[in-house]
This record gives sequence, C-alpha cells and structure tokens, in this order.
Amino acid sequence: MSEALTETYPVTVHTYDAVVVGAGGSGLRATMGLAESGLKTACITKVFPTRSHTVAAQGGIAASLGNMGEDHWTWHMYDTVKGSDWLGDQDAIEYLVREAPAAVYELEHYGVPFSRTEEGRIYQRAFGGMTTHFGEGAAAQRTCAAADRTGHAMLHALYQQSLKHDSDFFIEYFAIDLIMEDGECRGVIAMNMEDGTLHAFRAHATVLATGGYGRAYFSATSAHTCTGDGGGMVLRAGLAVQDMEFVQFHPTGIYGAGVLITEGARGEGGYLVNGEGERFMERYAPSAKDLASRDVVSRSMSNEIREGRGVGANKDHIHLHLDHLDPAILAERLPGISESAKIFAGVDVTREPIPVLPTVHYNMGGIPTNYWGEVINPTPEDQDRIVPGLFAVGEAACVSVHGANRLGSNSLIDLVVFGRAVGKRVPELVKTGATHKPLPKGYEDMALGRLDAARYAHGSTSTAELRLSMQRTMQNNCAVFRTNEVLEEGKTLIDKVVGGLDDLKTSDRSLVWNSDLIETLELQNMVPQAVLTMYSAANRKESRGAHMHEDYPDRDDETWMKHTAAWFDGTSARIGYREVHNYTLTDEVEYIKPKARVY
Ligand SMILES: Cc1cc2nc3c(=O)[nH]c(=O)nc-3n(C[C@H](O)[C@H](O)[C@H](O)COP(=O)(O)OP(=O)(O)OC[C@H]3O[C@@H](n4cnc5c(N)ncnc54)[C@H](O)[C@@H]3O)c2cc1C
Repeated sequence: MSEALTETYPVTVHTYDAVVVGAGGSGLRATMGLAESGLKTACITKVFPTRSHTVAAQGGIAASLGNMGEDHWTWHMYDTVKGSDWLGDQDAIEYLVREAPAAVYELEHYGVPFSRTEEGRIYQRAFGGMTTHFGEGAAAQRTCAAADRTGHAMLHALYQQSLKHDSDFFIEYFAIDLIMEDGECRGVIAMNMEDGTLHAFRAHATVLATGGYGRAYFSATSAHTCTGDGGGMVLRAGLAVQDMEFVQFHPTGIYGAGVLITEGARGEGGYLVNGEGERFMERYAPSAKDLASRDVVSRSMSNEIREGRGVGANKDHIHLHLDHLDPAILAERLPGISESAKIFAGVDVTREPIPVLPTVHYNMGGIPTNYWGEVINPTPEDQDRIVPGLFAVGEAACVSVHGANRLGSNSLIDLVVFGRAVGKRVPELVKTGATHKPLPKGYEDMALGRLDAARYAHGSTSTAELRLSMQRTMQNNCAVFRTNEVLEEGKTLIDKVVGGLDDLKTSDRSLVWNSDLIETLELQNMVPQAVLTMYSAANRKESRGAHMHEDYPDRDDETWMKHTAAWFDGTSARIGYREVHNYTLTDEVEYIKPKARVY
C-alpha cells in the first residue's frame, strides 16, 4: 500500500534542526528563539502568520510591572494558582509569573505599540481575578494593553522580528501527522495546500504551537481555524492529552454572533445587568463583583438566565453596560469592541448596553508539557516521562499554568514565556547540523493513508453535517453546568459522532485549495478531543474551576486534586491521572496552600 500511495503522493523530504508547527504568538516566539540560537529552523503554518487566532486577542497581557500601582510577581502567582482552583502546577506558574515582566519588555523592544500612561510607561488595566497582597488588597492593574488590539500588535511585531532571523516559513502548509519512531518524534508530514504536494520535515525537535480546539463547540469566540490539529496528531501518535474537561466560557460573547467583548470592558468599569435591571454580580462575588474570575461570572450569568432573570424577549441573555463611561475613554481604550458591538449587535456602546452570553473561549487542557515545553506522556511509574524530540507551546499545550480555569490576559503571557523557554531548551539538547537517522520505513503511511481516504470518502454524511452534530453535542452536553445525566447522554452522542467518521462523504477530489479535504482532516483532529473532553468531564466527580458538576458541587481535593491524562485508541477513551506539582521552582516563594475560592 505504501508504494502505491507514495507514487500518487510523492513526498519531498526537508531536513532541519528544528521545526515549529504554528505561527501564532507561541509559534513565532519559539521560531525566533530557535533561529536566533543558530539552529536551522522551519515554521509551518496553515494560515498566513498574521492571521493566526492570536491576532484577535483584545484585552492584554499580564505581567507585574507595577506601572499603575504596587504589584509583585508573588501576587501574580497567588492569583494564578487561585484562578486555577489549585490544579495548576506551581513550579510552572512560578516560572511564568517571574519571567513575565522581562517577556513584556522584550515585546516592547520588538516594537509592540503599547498604550501609555501619562509618564510614558506601559498602560495596564484591571482584569478578572488579578489582585494585590495575595487577594487581600485592591484589584491589581496588571494587564498590559495596546488599546483593545493587543494580540494584533503582538503578532505583527513578532512576525516582523522573526523575519529578521534566518528561519524558513512554509506558509499555507497543513501539517497532517507526526513522524514517530520508538516513542521519539522525528518530524512532521505536511501538505502544501496551494498545489497538493506532500512534504516531510525531518527535525531533531518538533514544536507544536497549533492553538486550541474551540471549534469543537457550536458557539466559540475562536477562529474557524482553531481545530486543535496538534492535539489530534498527538493522540494518533498514541500520546496523552491532559485536563480536557476544563473548557473556559468567556462571560461576554456577543449574543447570537459569539464575537468576543474583552474582559477589558469590565476592567475599564463596565458592568453586567440582568432582566430586572440588577447588578447581580454583587450577590455572587461581593468583593470582586464583575471582575471575579471567568468561570464564576459565566456561571452567575447562566444562573440568572436559568432562574428567569435574563434580558430580551426570551430572557435568554444578559446586558453589559459601558454607556456610563466617558465616550473619549471608550474611543481611546476600547475602539475595537465599540466597532464589534455596532457590527454584530447593532449597538452604540455610548448609549445602549451590549447583549452578551457566556461563549466557549479557551481550552485549559491540551498536550501535557513541563515548563520547558517538553511533551510528557505519563505512565503510572513515571508521571513526567518526556517524549524525546517533541515540544508543545501556547494554547495547544497544558503546562499546566491555568489548571482548571485561566485568568484573562494569562494566555498571551504564556505564549511568549513558554515560546521563549523552548527557544532556550532545544539548543541545549540539539546541536546545529547534527546528523539525522534515516527516516523509519513506512513513516508516511498513516498521513498519506488518511489523506487519500478523506479525499475519496464516499459515505453518506458530509463533513459539515458531522461537524455540526459534534458541535451541538458539546454545546448541549458539556457546557457551563454539567450533571451525570447530561454527561452520560453526551458520551453516547459523541460516540455516535466517532462512528460517523467512517461514513464521511467529500465531494472535491482535487488537491488544489481543497477546503473539503482540509476540513475533513480538521474534523478528524477535533473529534477525539471532543470525546476526551466529554469523557474526562463525566469522569471527574467534583466541581473545580470551569468544571461545574451539579451532582458534585464541591471541590474535592482529597480525591481529585490531580490532572486527568487521556488517550484515544481510535474508538474509545482511556483515562489516567498525573499528580499536580505541589511544589515551587525556587524557595523564594512558598507553596500556596489550597483554600476555598471566594472572590
Ligand atoms: C477573540 C479572542 C480574544 C482573546 N483575547 C485574549 C487576551 O486579551 N489576552 C489573553 O491573554 N488571551 C486572549 N485570548 C486567548 C489567546 O489569544 C489564545 O489562547 C492564543 O492567542 C493562542 O495562541 P497560539 O500561539 O497558541 O495559537 P494561535 O494563535 O491560535 O495560532 C495557531 C497556529 O497554528 C497553525 N496551525 C494550526 N494547525 C495547523 C496545521 N495542521 N498545520 C499547520 N499549521 C497549523 C495556524 O496556522 C496558526 O498559525 C483570546 C482568544 C480569543 C479567541
């Protein structure tokens, strides 16, 4: 079979020291660091770099610069651990928050046009869950912002910088599968979408920076390209993903459209109101109110709606008010969302509230790594077993710094801190120009076999139809509130979707810009992750962070303070565990002990 396939799809082999898949914030930062170290580096991306989802990030990037009031990295650490509901690994969190200020100054020097204070320092706004004095003091202004287009500014600056270094970009190439041999990663196979040619990239280090899988849900703030391709590749290679049950719903997606209104809107003084005109967050989070962490605000909103206090004819959403704020401030600090509100909700934010609803926004779960970005495939004997040659960064990875719930503005900082970490780690392991072993025989079989089968699929369900049933199942059965009954039904429904993968129908047989084919490969990446999200959620019999299980409403540290590791064998899920790293990186900060999470 292999010979016939390689005749139809001849593979060009490229040889690199390191290859990065993905050109979002994390992929570009990794590419830059690797190239800077002198390693021969390639970056493969399915969209043009500056179209990666990072471009859509609005609110900002967290670092304890203290430009707008007192701040300290240990406070940022406390908030992140508490935000994670004690599921984050404290060594990795310490690494993140300590490196954060340097990473932001680096971005400043790369040319990110941050908004400025009167004194000319980087402007910082308040964000949910960010406090001072270990939660005892006032809200921290820690989120560095370039108006409400921070991700846009970052991505453009990083792309410009990466061009300065000597790396090769393979743009609009779709990575299909990893090349694995004896548990080691040897590179990746990709298709050039423009002409359908196949390419193998041999590398001593392969870095997955492929972003989240938000599109497994029906309503998500993420781009249509956020299909978790890295997670799909890892699962097909027989490796684990981690903490998939933790899916973040952002409180303020525009009702109906799903387009994001940044938390920065509440950071600048915006507030939520129910159908009775009440600022209900005061009841749920008396001290942080509208700036409680995202899981808390999303649940409170969903609860108001469930209890009949939503707004609108169907009482099925909530209002976000900005109309009391100075129009000059709105124009200066929130121009992008003012425009989005106009286009997607027909609302003038200076006069009317924006209709909003909790919307899928971020995957806390992903490919498990340590804080160097080295991928882990745990066994009961070796919880931190490293997969040689494979790395993951950004939303695709689970380091885990966000644990059960990510704080707003902690993702952008995660991208650059861990992108940079990989750029430091790989050169320690790989010497420039080191010789490669010959590629394993039949290395291309899985990728080409899947490609060919998808191209000629002649079953009875179209990719779009099956994708919709997956998205509806996830949205209905694995959302903000979960119960045994709803999750058990969800397992049955998502199993049916898995079955449907064998009966797909595609209609375009060409190899030039074949979106039918690419969307099919993307669906094959998303489905296993949807399955593991559902099964991991059904398995976790407690409530923690974004996972609110109504039959087990309390956090149970005794039994459940552990990461879920999950594998997929093509039909069914296997669940295991990894211990949470309950220790810090240095003795300059103490382990933050679990306590009840109140805002
Ligand atoms: C609307 C929105 C606003 C946000 N605002 C903020 C914010 O203000 N602050 C914050 O901290 N976080 C924010 N987030 C979260 C944060 O922006 C994302 O988590 C982060 O940008 C993800 O970056 P990434 O580098 O992991 O991947 P992405 O930026 O998603 O990029 C993925 C890359 O992988 C490539 N790729 C994927 N699959 C393949 C494949 N098969 N082959 C080749 N290439 C592939 C893509 O081409 C792309 O280059 C926001 C998210 C959204 C959706």
